[in-house]
Amino acid sequence: MEKKIAVIKGDGIGPEIVTEAMKALDAAAKKFSHSFSYTQLLMGGCSIDAYGVPLTDETIEVCKQSDAVLMGSIGGDTATSPWYKLPANLRPEAGLLGIRKALGLFANLRPCLLYPQLSSACPLKKEIADNGFDMLIMRELTGGLYFGARRTETVDGLETAVDTLIYNENEIRRIAVKAFEVARKRRHSVISVDKANVLDSSRLWRKIINEVSAEYPDVELKHMLVDNAAMQLVRDPAQFDVMVTENMFGDILSDEASMITGSIGMLPSASLNETKFGLYEPSGGSAPDIAGQDKANPIAAILSAAMLLRYSFDMTEEADAVENAVGKTLDEGYRTADIMSEGCKRVSCSEIGTLIAERI
Ligand code: NAD
Repeated sequence: MEKKIAVIKGDGIGPEIVTEAMKALDAAAKKFSHSFSYTQLLMGGCSIDAYGVPLTDETIEVCKQSDAVLMGSIGGDTATSPWYKLPANLRPEAGLLGIRKALGLFANLRPCLLYPQLSSACPLKKEIADNGFDMLIMRELTGGLYFGARRTETVDGLETAVDTLIYNENEIRRIAVKAFEVARKRRHSVISVDKANVLDSSRLWRKIINEVSAEYPDVELKHMLVDNAAMQLVRDPAQFDVMVTENMFGDILSDEASMITGSIGMLPSASLNETKFGLYEPSGGSAPDIAGQDKANPIAAILSAAMLLRYSFDMTEEADAVENAVGKTLDEGYRTADIMSEGCKRVSCSEIGTLIAERI
């Protein structure tokens, strides 16, 4: 198959980790006889330096003409970088919000997987960590409280602030469809998280999720209240396969879930629109403290490339090959500095990238 991939390496460790993710994509292309072509684009701080803005129309256009986007991370040291002296709409992060909007990316997927080889980094009790977990949080990304009308005013002499949590049935239906489709590629189980005992928006959420569920009889559906979900994540994370939830609940729960895996350098993510198109990036930031030192962990970027193969290109075997190569490299004891433990072999960003590519 021939595929076009837009590549945004970004700032900080972005160029280093994306280079390793491209090594993995090239190895998968070679093994399975595909041809991937890459167009490199600027976004974030490097785009500000080159063009004066964090996101150009050209970057958006080339992304739209591609089959998927592979991204590193953007931004610099927020205390010292001159990018953060600019008005908010010209800072690196404005590029990120701009591209999500321009590409209609409404579903954010964050797999949280505890590799048995790294279970000592998990802050949960040993018996829970030893059991392992492999879940995916699907967060609605363009609606809810963060996008509803808000205002601050004086009411009866008191300063009063209002935010609005708003969803329509179409916004819920399209994320529900994504959740059930993704569950079909995993263990066929969806837990929908809401606050239906209090919120109208959650009652509508639950109703639409139930309606969509009827079209997926092969996928088991359960509902869970968000306060319970926060507890269950630390009590028994293995019970979750796909968790689907609205924007703010997903924002909070996905950070909680990433914490229990122990390392930010291991966590990929994907943001999808209604088609197969998606943007794939590590969950972490640009790590300016270690940029340019060949020290970063590229595994999150490599696993993001595996998600790109799985979700945008429907290349299941190829994605499995990349993920298995990561597991094998860890089994053999290779570690970057952030996940190093006693008895393991410490390697650089580029070394572990090559080791993984060789094992695909
Ligand atoms: P960060 O994730 O960049 O770094 C937090 C800590 O984790 C640092 O100690 C860093 O060295 C470490 N770390 C992160 N990724 C790592 C990796 N792959 N390997 C090894 N260690 C890793 O978060 P921050 O310091 O809060 O933010 C730095 C910059 O990144 C800011 O400008 C922020 O706005 C930006 N940011 C960008 C994105 C994105 O591009 N999607 C996401 C989050 C933060």
